[in-house]
Parts: sequence; C-alpha cells; structure tokens
Amino acid sequence: MIATRRNFLGATLALAVDAWRPAAAASARVMLDPLQPGVYVARAVNAEATRANAGAVVPSLVHVTRAGVLVADPGPQAVWGRALLGAIRALTAQPVRWVVNTHAHPEHVLANAAFAGLRPRPLFLASAATAALMRQRCEDCLARLTAQLGRAALRGTEIVLPEPALQDGAWLHTGDTAWQVQVHAPAHSASDTVLYAPQLRLLCAGGLAYRDRVPEMQEASLQGWRQALRQLIALPADTVVATATGTPAQTLVPTLAYLDALTDGIGAALAAGRDASQAADAVAAKPFRHWRHFPTRHPLNLQRAWRQLEDAWMQGEPRA
Ligand SMILES: [Zn+2]
Repeated sequence: MIATRRNFLGATLALAVDAWRPAAAASARVMLDPLQPGVYVARAVNAEATRANAGAVVPSLVHVTRAGVLVADPGPQAVWGRALLGAIRALTAQPVRWVVNTHAHPEHVLANAAFAGLRPRPLFLASAATAALMRQRCEDCLARLTAQLGRAALRGTEIVLPEPALQDGAWLHTGDTAWQVQVHAPAHSASDTVLYAPQLRLLCAGGLAYRDRVPEMQEASLQGWRQALRQLIALPADTVVATATGTPAQTLVPTLAYLDALTDGIGAALAAGRDASQAADAVAAKPFRHWRHFPTRHPLNLQRAWRQLEDAWMQGEPRA
C-alpha cells in the first residue's frame, strides 16, 4: 500500500480498462483517478453531453470499502457503465453493493443498466422524489439522450429504477465510512441528493456544482440552489465531486457566485422597472465569460432566472 496521502495523490494516475467492445472508443474506456485511499473518480469530459463525447460527462464517484463498493452517479449509458465496472474490477474483487442516483438527469443515471445484472444485485438508491421522477420520465429521457448522442452510444441501455430509500438527514454506511444524506429540493433539479462523508472531508454533490462551466438551469430553482450551495459551503470538506471534481473554492463557491450574480443583477433590474430584454445587460457576467458553454447556456439561464425572480418580485417576496 502507499504510505502517505501525498504519495497516493502523486501516484501515476489510473487504470484503463478496455471495454467489452473496442469499437466504441470514445465511451468505452474509463480511467479511475484516485482522490484518496479507497476513493476514485471516473475521468469525464467537463462539458454538456454531445455525440462527440457520447455523454461521458459525469465523474462517477467510486468508493472501495471492505464491505463492498459504492458507485454514485454511474453515468450516461450501458457501454460507459460496463467500462466503469471493468475499471472497478481491476481495483478490487469487492462486490458493487450500492449505486446512488443523485438526481433524475439521464447522463447521471442511465448507466444503472450496467450494474443491474450483478449478483448479488446492488442496491439502487435515490431520494423519493428522484425515484418518482425517474419512474415518470426515464423513458422520455432515454429517447431524448438517444436522439442527442446517437443510437450506437445508447445500445444496451435499459432503464433501471432506484429505490426511494435516501432521506434527508439519514446516514448511508459503507464499511467504516458514514455518508450523511442531504436532499435539496428543488435546487439544480426537482430533487438533488448530496452524500457527505465528514471522515473523508468529501462531498458528492451531483449536479449542484460546476467548475469553469456555466451551470445548466433548465429545471433549476435559483433560490433553492443558492440555499443548497450556502449550506454545502459551510461544511468542512476538502473535495467536491459533482459535474467536475475540485476543492469547494473551485466548484461550490464559483457556482454560487454565478447564481448570486444572476439574482442580484436581475433583482436590481426588476426594481428599476426594466424588462426581460435587458436581462443580459443587468447581470455582471464578466467573471464567467470564459466558462465553457457561456454563449449558449448563459442566455437560457438569464431567461429562466428572470422569470423566477419576476414571479417572486410580483408576489412581494424578498430576495433571499
Ligand atoms: Zn443535472
């Protein structure tokens, strides 16, 4: 074993495992980067899902313990999931016992399919709201992702639904590690589950944090998301695994700064009697212009934030 954390982090990264079918090059190779002893993150593209990246945009968290393996957000499709499983197999003979779905966005959860055939079957876990949403719309999501990424990328991907077993404030025990479950609803999506391991100073935050990339807000609650981030920033943690991996200062803090900039700019514009066509000028976006997807995603976020803040303003709610 490697003696110190520093050595461990400095060790040559990763295990590459050739997938079952080498033809699917872009999506069939999963590298697991070590974060700390027993904790790994699948190397993923820090971008929105496209045909070119085959949806491999979620850094799945893998925690190897003496009691089995935890996988949080297994990824977008079965090919990726199988390659992830192959990479786990190269690390440990421990069975995958827990597969957590943080929220009902297809690129995070559709790789459940790759783990459903394992015996013993892992527990598939989500919040009640996420499980209900997946039951409601995974079929549409699968169709949408297939249209987006192409049929080849999604081959073999079937819908595997989680149990609605994760409750806010409960603890998930994986061997010697206890993960506190937080459910933020609504935030980035209708329900976002966070796993927090105080012993590891590690946060698994699903879709709640971005790094150098404009957040996706299509189903977001601006106020709910900001509140969730404020709570997460207050926790003692060194590492956040979400849509990208980094320190809280690289992920949680800038994501909140972006959402705050939307809130403050649009709030002031509403108070000054401006209309939605002036949203872009109202928000001080300079610090975020270099972020990925700014030209396409930021205008959509302005519209959504404007609608939400206008509704709240009409109802006389103070800006939180
Ligand atoms: Zn999401």
